[in-house]
Amino acid sequence: MNKPLILVVEDDPTVRNLITTTLKSNDYRYIAASNGEAAIMAATTQQPDIVFLDLGLPDLDGVEIIRRIRTWSQIPIIVISARSEDSDKVSALDAGADDYLTKPFSVTELLARLRVAQRRISSASARTGESVFRNGSLTIDYGAGCAFLKGEVLKLTPTEYKLLCLLTKDVGKVLTHTYLTDKIWGSSWESDMASLRVHMATLRKKIEKDPDAQYIQTHIGIGYRMMRVE
Ligand code: CA
Repeated sequence: MNKPLILVVEDDPTVRNLITTTLKSNDYRYIAASNGEAAIMAATTQQPDIVFLDLGLPDLDGVEIIRRIRTWSQIPIIVISARSEDSDKVSALDAGADDYLTKPFSVTELLARLRVAQRRISSASARTGESVFRNGSLTIDYGAGCAFLKGEVLKLTPTEYKLLCLLTKDVGKVLTHTYLTDKIWGSSWESDMASLRVHMATLRKKIEKDPDAQYIQTHIGIGYRMMRVE
């Protein structure tokens, strides 16, 4: 597979240079944009494989850019935001972003996020039409409505199973608390958030017995993500 083409959208030249220099020295192809209009133009005409999107741009709101791109494309979008802006990250993820990087970030972090996004692209293309999900020792047969760990049937409650399906159908993407509670209970009250934490804890106890198999990442104040373990 060719090295993917990365679109870098960032108005701060220092951060933009850090990202593009890192991409260049790691043999990625990239295009850069310093405002929202240029970003949408580049996303439309150059067909990048992955987007790094700063949420604070001079012309357009980052969340609006995500919404627009999502009307025609499912490319991985990794948003870049400042540490204090958890609510912005949540809105960006709910609008369809896949992941986020918090400023200031290291080159190592940047490259790690890129690898997750790349894996997400390859698993999305491999998954088309597949009714069985495999990740490490975890298997889900969506058709049969059963999950297995090391070949043994997992005894999951309906809510735990639903939660597991939501996470595995979007491997590599950070799913927000609101998204998950809304999908499971059709609402996102404070009490739903508390229930989510409880069901997530019991689900994790069942699938993460083995300390090497940490399938689910917790993003405090934001949500959860299923990671590829192999
Ligand atoms: Ca900015």
